Parts: sequence; structure tokens; C-alpha cells
Amino acid sequence: MAQLKDDCFAFSGALLPIADVERLIAERIVPVDGIEEVPLAGARGRVVARDVIAPVDLPPFDNSAVDGYAVRHADLAPQAETRLRLAQRIMAGERAVHSVTAGEAARIFTGAPMPAGADTVFMQEDTREEGDRVILPQGLARGANRRLAGEDIARGALALPAGRRLRPGDLALAAALGVTHLPVRRRVRVALFSTGNEVVDPGEALGVAGVFDSNRVLLAAMLDAVGAQVADLGILRDDPAALSRAIADAAAAHDLILTSGGVSLGDADHVRTAVEGIGRLVFWRVGIKPGRPVAMGVIPSKDGGAAAFAGLPGNPVAVFVTFARVVRPLLLRLAGAAAEPLAAYRVRSAFAYTKRPGRREYVRVSLVRAADGAFEAVKYPREGAGVITSLTETDGLAELADDTTQVAPGDSIGFIPYSAITG
Ligand code: AMP
Ligand code: MG
Repeated sequence: MAQLKDDCFAFSGALLPIADVERLIAERIVPVDGIEEVPLAGARGRVVARDVIAPVDLPPFDNSAVDGYAVRHADLAPQAETRLRLAQRIMAGERAVHSVTAGEAARIFTGAPMPAGADTVFMQEDTREEGDRVILPQGLARGANRRLAGEDIARGALALPAGRRLRPGDLALAAALGVTHLPVRRRVRVALFSTGNEVVDPGEALGVAGVFDSNRVLLAAMLDAVGAQVADLGILRDDPAALSRAIADAAAAHDLILTSGGVSLGDADHVRTAVEGIGRLVFWRVGIKPGRPVAMGVIPSKDGGAAAFAGLPGNPVAVFVTFARVVRPLLLRLAGAAAEPLAAYRVRSAFAYTKRPGRREYVRVSLVRAADGAFEAVKYPREGAGVITSLTETDGLAELADDTTQVAPGDSIGFIPYSAITG
């Protein structure tokens, strides 16, 4: 795995701003190579590896957008109703054999090909039939309710750009073009560890001072949502040698090694030193709260390549936030996906808040509709980075800019819904 440039992340400052994290990722991380052709049914969430060009026009032929009557616009009276003779009937899936000649209309149905001569379609709701005549109101524009061949996308045009993370609509477009398989990059392989002597798997005995591992299942789910292929490698003890060994071993078969816990300055926090011993630490303090200690580095592997390393804090909410802001863009980049910035919608704050400048802060909030119809962000009452109910009881993250120091009720603030992070 040689997807990291050699001088990856030359940074040694204090608190690295998030904007710099994003810039470094864009500049220094190289996407994984390896392309495969996958059927549309299994392609959702995969990343398009090379531009997909429309092989045909869409729609493939001129057709009617409604059930109604196809006419020649030149036959219509500008200031009065028009009465035309019904000369033919064309259903979807049939060929339009006859032309529409002067004074004639064709009964036509949605998706049926336009007959030669006709250029406009009346919706049947706007018309009435009398015997073999149809009576049409005045005022319909030429070309109404007609879909031209290639108007959706023309043959030869770019249908899906390289880097697109495939959404259901993309798959529909590919299918509509008759495409059965798409070229996608292989999935990013991620080795996932938890760390901590106190951490035990749910289902095991908790012991006197244990906590159940919530980070691994959280991260596995978030990784999966971004399309990564996760190897769950369990829980590592707070033992420098064991950490080094496990991380070094994981570098060979994975593109990214992701850990939680053990990255701050406590006596049992050995992850950072382990990374420094076996690879290169690039940064380990980011201007983000919760989650300031976030380590990122490069671990060389025995096969001569290298894996990226991301060490997240231990507290579950800090894990969630740092995943969203640091790991997600890193993964997208490794996957060869175009950047998908987390857009914060503007909402009104219902709370007052004081923060330090120089870091971006994420406050868990619920959205409520105020009396005037605007959305208001209501802060979850407990702020701790270990309070998991602050994630389950809220709708998303209020994002307070790096240089903000005060938020007052009524202020406009950024809001990122959880669905944008994990969807
Ligand atoms: P650390 O950064 O290792 O000191 O961990 C900070 C806090 O997060 C401690 O209270 C840990 O017990 C907790 N923590 C660490 N890892 C996990 C985990 N996998 N699941 C739940 N809590 C954790
Ligand atoms: Mg720990």
C-alpha cells in the first residue's frame, strides 16, 4: 500500500486548525489504487474510478411527457379553441408509424414516441373529446410536454465523474443509459482497534472498573457508512510494546489504522509514542472540541508501502466528532472520492455559550420549530465528551467557528445533521 506521499504532513505546531487538517489531507493523501467493475446493484456508496460517458442519448427518442394529444403547434388557433381530427393512437413501447398531418392530432401516452410532424402535447385533463375530434384550449407553448432525445443527457456527455460516491440517483442514471457495471475503486481497508485496560467487549464480564467498548461499534458503523471495509481487530492493552506490535502488523494489509483512546498525556497513553517508534507522527493536537488530541501519522509496512494512522481520543462523543471532522475526509480521500465538505445549515441558537478562540467547537443540539417557523438549536444540557446520550437525544452538531467566543440566543449558528455525517 503505497498511497501516502513520502513527506506526508510536515507539521509540528501546537493546535492544528481543522482547515489545515483538511488541506493536508487533500494535498498529501493519495487514493488507493485498484479498480474493479461492479454491477449496479452492489455499487451504492462505491467511488467511481474513471469518468463514465453516456453511451446513448437519454431519453433515447423524442417522446411524450404526459398522457394526452400530440399536435402540430402550427395548427393551433392563437385566440380560440382548436378542433383536430384524431388520426392515430400511440402507446408507450409502440413505434410511431404515421406522421401527424395538418388538422390531425394523435392520441398519445406518457413515454410513447412522438409521431413525425407533431411538436407539442396537450395533457388530457385540459382537453375534451367529441366523437373522433379532440378540442384543445388556446395558449399552449410550442414544445410543451414533449421530451427531446438527449435532453436529459446527450450521448458522449459526462454522466458520472471520477470521484463520485455513488448515490441511488447515480445508479438510476447509469441504468437509464443501459450501463450494467461501473468502474469503481477498491474499498479502503481499515484496521480498527480500541485501547484501554478498562475496556471490555459487551457480553463479557465488566470487572470492578471496566467500561464496555462503545467506540469500536460506533467507528465500525461510521466507517461502513463511508464505504470502508473494516477489520475489527479488538481491544489493545495499554502496553507500549503490544500497541507497537499490533499497529505495525496492521500496516501491511490495511490502508488506514484507526484507534481510539490512549492519545492524550496520561501515564497510560502510549499510542502516540508507539506511532513515533514505528512510523511518523504528523500531528496529534487539533483545534477541535470535543477531541483535541487526535493523532495522525504514517506507519511503514513490511512490504515497503505505508498505511495512514489516525488515533482518536477515548471519549465516545470526541470519537464521533473527530471521526466526522478528521477521519471522514481522510477516508474519502483514500477512497478517491471527491471532497464532500460537511455543510453547516444556518439555524438560530436557542442557547448562550462561551468558548475559547482558536478551536472549532461542536455542541450537540436538537432542532425545534420556533413560533415564527424558523429552526432553533437547543443545546443538550450535559456537555461531557463521554455523555453518549448527548448523541442519542439530539439531532446534530452545532458548529461554532474557530474564532467565535460568544454565542447568544437568537444568533445564527451552523448546524450539521447527523444524517450528513453518517448517511
Ligand atoms: P483515554 O483517552 O484512553 O484516557 O480515554 C478517555 C475516556 O474514554 C476514558 O474514560 C476511557 O475509559 C473512555 N474510553 C476509552 N476507550 C473507550 C471505548 N472503546 N469505549 C468506551 N469508552 C472508552
Ligand atoms: Mg485509555
